[in-house]
Amino acid sequence: MTGVTRARTGYEYRPVMGVIFEPFKIKTVEAIPFTTEEQRRMLLREASYNLFLLPSATITFDFLTDSGTSAMSDQQWAAMMRADESYAGSSSYWRFEKVVRELTGYRHIIPTHQGRAAERILFSCALESGQHIPNNNHFDTTRANIEYQGGIGDDLVVTENHDPQSDFPFKGNIDLRRLENYLEENAGNVALGMLTITNNTGGGQPASLANIRGASALYRKHGVPFFLDACRFAENAFMIQQREAGQSDRSVREIAQEVFSLADGCTMSGKKDGIVNMGGFLAVNDADLATDARNLLILTEGFPTYGGQAARDLEAFAVGLDEVLDQRYLEYRMASTKYLKDGLNRIGIPTMQPAGGHAVYIDARAFLPHVPAREFPGQSLAVALYLEGGIRTCEIGSVMFGKPTADGGFDAADLELVRIAIPRRRYTQSHIDYVLENCERIVAKKDLIGGMEMVERPPFLPHFRAKFAPIDSWVAAHGEAAPD
Ligand SMILES: *Cc1c(COP(=O)(O)O)cnc(C)c1O
Repeated sequence: MTGVTRARTGYEYRPVMGVIFEPFKIKTVEAIPFTTEEQRRMLLREASYNLFLLPSATITFDFLTDSGTSAMSDQQWAAMMRADESYAGSSSYWRFEKVVRELTGYRHIIPTHQGRAAERILFSCALESGQHIPNNNHFDTTRANIEYQGGIGDDLVVTENHDPQSDFPFKGNIDLRRLENYLEENAGNVALGMLTITNNTGGGQPASLANIRGASALYRKHGVPFFLDACRFAENAFMIQQREAGQSDRSVREIAQEVFSLADGCTMSGKKDGIVNMGGFLAVNDADLATDARNLLILTEGFPTYGGQAARDLEAFAVGLDEVLDQRYLEYRMASTKYLKDGLNRIGIPTMQPAGGHAVYIDARAFLPHVPAREFPGQSLAVALYLEGGIRTCEIGSVMFGKPTADGGFDAADLELVRIAIPRRRYTQSHIDYVLENCERIVAKKDLIGGMEMVERPPFLPHFRAKFAPIDSWVAAHGEAAPD
């Protein structure tokens, strides 16, 4: 596997600190909502057992996503105060541009309101109908924006990614052999090539530096522009530093800079490794592409020196891009994700291995083998977690990707997962201990957790608005029967 030997699969996190503690102290606090089990049972019924439909004020711990849910630092809030809200030529833009350019090396930095706006603008300018775009795994908004332009997104992630139990350290790698064949077969019809770091869809797993170098060389050999989906570039660079031979003496920033230098541009969502609540950017080297992108930007996002963000957002984003590369921060971040994964495994809850950067994925099929895919074991477990402890997680399985077939059967997703995504700097270790306590109680009654029936299925993106009813289970039986 391109410079990463199998011998390193026994990867163990070796912290510099003894106890990994949160490397910040608390200056502002936000009260956590509490509910009783009886209230949660009622709330679940009202929300038709779809956790997206719950008011956040009824959620004690929210692990639905790490996107835009992180806590900003005092430095970020302070930077927001000095923001220059001029319509054009804001000094906040120049500060932002300098930080992004020093990090990425790209010539043209185009702010957008979030990552998907950068994707839409890039594909509007650089993709023609019928053309292909390969990736390790396309994130859902990336794929949707490619398809909206009439393009075809192809996933070429390595096979290790498909095995939840494989602890291969770079399960976000793109399969270079398949990529080479693919570029030959589709020669002249590949608009651009991508790599998502870390690989969100495939479990928050990193791509190795050797793999990114290899992909870059192949794209260059075939004259295909290379764009990174860089949402979690810092977590990816940290995992390269920790796991890849020959990288441990380099700083995370140096590694990230090399990674950016291997591509011709990137799309970025500041809501991830920008540690802000809103923001994104498109960065490109090609001057003509930048001109096209800025013309489109003005149409939908705004003037090129703010592009859909307030100047204060740009200021906070610029500071966040520095803070996210702090070694101590990243050690704490990765240690806390691994702490949750190890805790779950210890009490008998199987997860994808190894821990991802931003999330832990419970293997609901393995945990609830008595619940068939058509009864959504991931949804059952997510509902049970909310009922038990007010904990919100996200099903990534047959609710999202499964489909009833014409002959009355069911086309299940490849994996039935429950994602516990961890917002940055928001929760402490004792909060995670509370989650583990609740999970332990769920382990004790897992045989009582039955399946769910999808009683209403929207035609697109069903997970956001689908309605469910519990089938003969602890969820339903605890108190009152399922609604009819
Ligand atoms: C979140 C995300 C996006 C889209 O960014 P938004 O800011 O949510 O629009 C794109 N790619 C990946 C890998 C992401 O995680």
